[in-house]
This record gives sequence, structure tokens and C-alpha cells, in this order.
Amino acid sequence: MLPPDEAWRRIEPHARPLAVETCLRRAAAGRILAEDLTALTDVPGGDVSAMDGYALAGEVPAGAALPVAGTIAAGAAPDARLAPGNALRIMTGAPVPAGADRVIPIEDTDRGAERVTVRAAVPAGAHIRRRGEVVRSGAPLLPAGTLLTPGALALLATHGYHDLPVVGAPRVAILTTGDEVVAPDTTPAPGQLRDSHTDFLLAACASVGARPHALGIAPDRAEVLRSRLAEGLTHDVLIVSGGVSMGEFDLVEGVLAELGCEPLFDALAIQPGKPMVAAVHPSGLLFALPGNPASAMVCFWILVRPALRRLYGLDDGFWRGALRGTLTAPLPAARDRDRFLPALVRFADGEPAVEPLLPVGSHDLAAYARGTALVRVPAGSPERRPGEPCSILPLANWANAES
Ligand code: AMP
Ligand code: MG
Repeated sequence: MLPPDEAWRRIEPHARPLAVETCLRRAAAGRILAEDLTALTDVPGGDVSAMDGYALAGEVPAGAALPVAGTIAAGAAPDARLAPGNALRIMTGAPVPAGADRVIPIEDTDRGAERVTVRAAVPAGAHIRRRGEVVRSGAPLLPAGTLLTPGALALLATHGYHDLPVVGAPRVAILTTGDEVVAPDTTPAPGQLRDSHTDFLLAACASVGARPHALGIAPDRAEVLRSRLAEGLTHDVLIVSGGVSMGEFDLVEGVLAELGCEPLFDALAIQPGKPMVAAVHPSGLLFALPGNPASAMVCFWILVRPALRRLYGLDDGFWRGALRGTLTAPLPAARDRDRFLPALVRFADGEPAVEPLLPVGSHDLAAYARGTALVRVPAGSPERRPGEPCSILPLANWANAES
């Protein structure tokens, strides 16, 4: 039995960013930039007014009234010229006319029919955005590794990038196993139960930007498992669930070995989730999760998710990104294994207030379904009381999660 941080150390070297692919800018939100990008244009593209006002040529004393020789709109060709002693009405973003060296905002003037009176002198250069003052063409814009946020995409649109080099999104095959497991949209016969793993894994993989593909439910028969697992192994990652415990029909590990998978570990010192298997195959990574729904979820969140995020180009690891919270209800003790319990997180004065939810057992999907975070109970910890600190891993966007 391996502690989870040690398990992660075995996974990490095999979870490297995937090969670069090209993605349309409009479809690239949330992807990771795979190459350094440079500015393709000067920003601003020319000298432009920063205000709606009047372009002036040289120092104009307070109280002077100047004739207004015309108006320059944003988008006008930069061919206007301002004669000394005149003013030109100018809009925000409009090109500064030749001869002008400052702009006075409209609110600092009094407007007559044909003349404008300057209320206060403005210094040379006032309210003019200079060509290239934000960035010059050819200068670094965004480095490889940047998360393509809405702001980053706006910047790339400014520079006319049509498609972008991004880290590949992992293709993940999902296979669930078990003679007793039926598809969720069918009615289970006595002794059967509905598959919850496929839906969990489809959503959980999609939530980290992976491209999941469900391979369905395989019976506990070695020859069927062999062909389905072989199909799964053509993906960047295969996640198989069930069939990895000590039961007579837990055949997955043996079949994986036949298919040339090399195990990284096959038992974890965690609760729930002990029978998890991770392995490598020439085509990628493989995770075999325990059949109990709570166990499968915990294994996904603490070890599979960080692996997928690294393949996707993000930096992640075991329990990376955990936050400190304050308990609002007791947190049970842990004996020889780390425990991971679901928890509801609320915010009290900006601090996470954590209510651990206590599952009946590792088949208690309901408790894990309600949790918006995992709370860790390190091996050997005594019971903790309300008011004491705890460590939580966010599972949801708390801004959206009702708790
Ligand atoms: P196993 O690891 O195959 O021994 O399964 C352990 C427990 O998890 C059994 O009670 C299974 O019925 C249950 N289980 C396995 N696969 C699924 C699944 N896809 N959805 C819901 N429960 C499952
Ligand atoms: Mg099974």
C-alpha cells in the first residue's frame, strides 16, 4: 500500500504535456498555449486621442478661444493636419492630426458655435496614446504555458491570431466493468445496479478539458475485457473501473498485464480507494479505479485529475491547490490510511467554512455527490472539532455551487 503522495511521484514522470495541436482562437478558451507568441502589430497602431476633446498645436493659455477647424472621428484616416492657432474636435481613439501635440478633454472647455474656449492649459503630450506604447510589433506577447483566459483571447484577437498552438487535450477512454452493472437508462433486474461511473467520469474528464469517450460496460469475462481494454489503450489515457479488488471475478489487472501494461502501483494507503491501479503502456497512461463509486471518485480527484491536467499543459500534483478551511462540524480520525471525505464549503467572512459529510461507506455516492470539496484526514490524525483547521481540495466552482 502506497501513500498517495508517493503514488503521485510514480505517476508524475509519465504525465507530460501532450503534443502541440492547432486550435481556432474562438474555440481555445481554457486551453494552454504551447508556444511563445509575439505581438504582430504595434498597439496602439498609431498616435490616437485618449479622450473626446480638442486637438491643440502647442501651448494654449487658459481663457484662449480657438477656431474649430473640423472634426476627426475614430476610424478616420490619419491624414488630418492642424494649423497652429486652431483646434480640431477629436474623438477617443481617433488619429491625432499632424501638427497637434496635445488633446484637451471636452469637459475642460467651453464650446461656442465656431470657437472653443480652453479653461485650463494642458501640457505637451496630454491625452495622446503613442503608437506602440503598450506593445511593439515583434515584442513578446504571451509565453508558452499561458492559460487562455477570456482576457488572453482578447489580446490575441487584437493581434489577429486566427488559430493558436495549444497543448493537446487528452483523449480519455472510459470503460466500466461488472456483470451486475447495467446502463443508467435501463431498469436493473434483481441483483443488478445502474452504472454511475461512466457519467461521473465523462463529466469529471470534461471539467478538466479532456476529451472523454465512453466504451460502455464490459462483463467480467477475460476475453471481452481484453478486446475492450485493448481498444481503450489506443487513447492517451484509459480509465477502467471495477474489477480491481480481490474478488474471484476481478480480472482487470491480469488482462492489463497480458496487454503489456506496466504497473506503477496497485494498492493505495487511502480510504476509500485502496485497490486503485495505475500503469503505463506505450500508448499512454492507464488508471483502474475501484468499483465502489465513492472510491472511484476519490481516486479520480486526487490522482487522475492532476495527471490529466498535466497532460493538458497545466502544472498540478497530488493535493496541489488545496486550501485551508475551518471545520464547522467534527472531522473523524484516521488510522493507518489517509481519509478523504466529501465536504460542503460555505464562506464566512471570505474564509472557507467546511462541513464534512460522513458517508455510510464507500458505496455512499450520495454524500460524495453533495460535496463540493474533499477534506483530507491524514493517517494517524485524531478527531478534530469544529473551529479547528482542515485542508480541502476544491471540486467545484464555489461561485456556482449552492451549499
Ligand atoms: P468491484 O470493484 O468490481 O468489486 O466493485 C465494487 C462495488 O462497486 C460493487 O458493489 C459493484 O457493484 C460496484 N460498482 C462497480 N462498478 C460500478 C459502476 N459502474 N457503477 C456503480 N457501481 C459499480
Ligand atoms: Mg466488479
